[in-house]
Amino acid sequence: MGDVINDMDNFNDVTEESPRDPDADKDNANQCKDKENKEATLSKSFKDEGKTDLDKLEHPFSCPNETSDLRLLVEGKPLYVSRVVLSLVSPILKSLLSMKGNDDNVEMPLSGKKYSHMVEFLSCIYPDILAPITEENAEVVLDLADNFQVSRLVDRCEDFLVFDISKTSPPPHPEKIVRYLSLAAKYELPKLQKATFEAAAKMPSDLLENIQAFWDLPAVTTTSLFIRRLKLFEKSGKTIRCKQKEIQNHCSLYHKGEKNEGNLCTKCYAQIGKHAINELQFI
Ligand SMILES: [Zn+2]
Repeated sequence: MGDVINDMDNFNDVTEESPRDPDADKDNANQCKDKENKEATLSKSFKDEGKTDLDKLEHPFSCPNETSDLRLLVEGKPLYVSRVVLSLVSPILKSLLSMKGNDDNVEMPLSGKKYSHMVEFLSCIYPDILAPITEENAEVVLDLADNFQVSRLVDRCEDFLVFDISKTSPPPHPEKIVRYLSLAAKYELPKLQKATFEAAAKMPSDLLENIQAFWDLPAVTTTSLFIRRLKLFEKSGKTIRCKQKEIQNHCSLYHKGEKNEGNLCTKCYAQIGKHAINELQFI
């Protein structure tokens, strides 16, 4: 949030006598005129390369339209947006836009932000777009949603990350678990912390310990994680012992003449083994 506030110093009144680079405006106008051709080319480029490049793409914020009344300048490039939409979703942006002396400005520089990240962020907050949160955009959108205090978008990102880390087939990679633990701590996301804890506690500790970022987590996180893993082992141990007693009682009543291993018949002995294997599957 600090860098957002610092941006207020750069909040320029850009009207007729705007100091904007005329070449930049010219370039942008040309981009809008050539939109169809570019889309066709870029669509082909997507198929060829299999990835997006929002720095070059046409997108809903690349040209002015009937609802845009503000230019955000990010990495020197304009993004055409609506003050009302920004003010509705973000108290930080609302405060910036309504400051005395800034309320008539038509351009706002945002330093320290990446252009492509802002396009992702805007696509997720605009009600007529509501772009889905995905594995590719979740972390950059979460960072900006937290930065601009867009609480509903933070919730959407957290819900996606919880869903993603809770998938068991295939199980989450240790590096992803450590990264999500870090996100949960950084942005104070309790649901993500709980879900990631559960996934991490069921993972062999050496897989986590071999990841450098694991040791960058807060000490309280790593300690709590190993305690959680220990508790899981203890719980499994208790369950196995209860089952063992139950089977022993059954065996001594009904299989008196068949005892073989450890005061149990072979069948009951094997049953305890099967139960123990099932109970300790998480190892
Ligand atoms: Zn038996």
